[in-house]
Amino acid sequence: MRRSRQALVVVFLVFIVTLSVYYADLGDFCPERGFVCPIPHDEDIIIRNDDIGEGDFGTRRRGGRKHKGIDLEAPIGTPIRAARTGKVIETGNEPSGYGKYVEMRHPDGFITIYAHLSEIDVKEGEIIRRGKIIGKVGKSGNASHRLIKSHVHFEIREDGVPVNPMDYIQSEERGMHPVKKNIISFVRDHLP
Ligand SMILES: [Zn+2]
Repeated sequence: MRRSRQALVVVFLVFIVTLSVYYADLGDFCPERGFVCPIPHDEDIIIRNDDIGEGDFGTRRRGGRKHKGIDLEAPIGTPIRAARTGKVIETGNEPSGYGKYVEMRHPDGFITIYAHLSEIDVKEGEIIRRGKIIGKVGKSGNASHRLIKSHVHFEIREDGVPVNPMDYIQSEERGMHPVKKNIISFVRDHLP
């Protein structure tokens, strides 16, 4: 009898600890400070890799330039979502560069850029919440070559310096899912 009560206390304590870990993580998530991938994905993020070039951050470009973002491969027309809550500070069309693009400003000195769109669904000055649709994938600007797979060119700049978006997207999503899974399996294994 006593032992089963002890076991109950242990289970209860483990439950409380798991719950607090879960909510601590959720607390980080709710203010929407983390970045999500602009292209919804069930499994791995697909980085463009075709006959014309690679879409990883920092890969070489013409004239000794380096790729300042990542190219997220997706069919034309795929909705693109804001990676983080922020304000649209610029939309435009650069036929020999970004094509149709959206630029957003976020707290803590962050800027995000989404380029080569087929359609822009936001206006300058709008506040857009993370996850809301800002446009559609296209092949505008210098992504119009037939051998270039359709993608969104996605940049994150921190205090004006381009950083690897994969570091930001991944840490946020890695932080979220495993903890959620833990509590679900915990409840399944420990509750009647
Ligand atoms: Zn690119």
